[in-house]
Amino acid sequence: MESYSAPIANLIEEFEKLPGIGHKTACRLAFYVLNETPEEAKKFAEAINIAKDKIKFCTVCGNLTDSELCPICSNSKRDQSIICVVSDVKDIMAMEKTHEFKGVYHVLQGAISPVNGIGPEDIRIRELISRLNENVSEVILATNLNVEGEATAMYISRLIKPMGIKVTRIAHGIPVGGDLEYTDEVTLSMALEGRREL
Ligand code: ZN
Repeated sequence: MESYSAPIANLIEEFEKLPGIGHKTACRLAFYVLNETPEEAKKFAEAINIAKDKIKFCTVCGNLTDSELCPICSNSKRDQSIICVVSDVKDIMAMEKTHEFKGVYHVLQGAISPVNGIGPEDIRIRELISRLNENVSEVILATNLNVEGEATAMYISRLIKPMGIKVTRIAHGIPVGGDLEYTDEVTLSMALEGRREL
């Protein structure tokens, strides 16, 4: 066991909870923060508090926002007739980096995964269906190209197709088993370009 005093051990522990942060990195970050000026450290803590306080889900698409609608849903230049369905808020950021997509999004906040006990009713599929009306011309299924993402895409396409709305799935470019979040912009643009109708 390491012999850090409780406040330091506590700080290290908090950093360790973050995704992708191992013990060594957590220690480095903790000591970095301790070396900061009190003002800098306070600013950091405040940034977490303020973000946590102010940020909520967009009532339409499920993106993170500090107002009722996210910047994408409230942007009149975005094409409201094309909805790109993603699993996670982070996937919107990945898609936006391509500068290719001019439509709007729908965040499922998860994917169907029977193994983990996550069914269609546990993610925001109902909310997606309720957004579909005669003004929607296409739904692009941009869930991850892994087992859960494919299962989710299949489930949604079966629901939507009878409604007479074009359903497409992002295709080549992204490796099988690949996460959108870790895909570079070029590959993701190609995948969007090469989407196929389901
Ligand atoms: Zn939104």
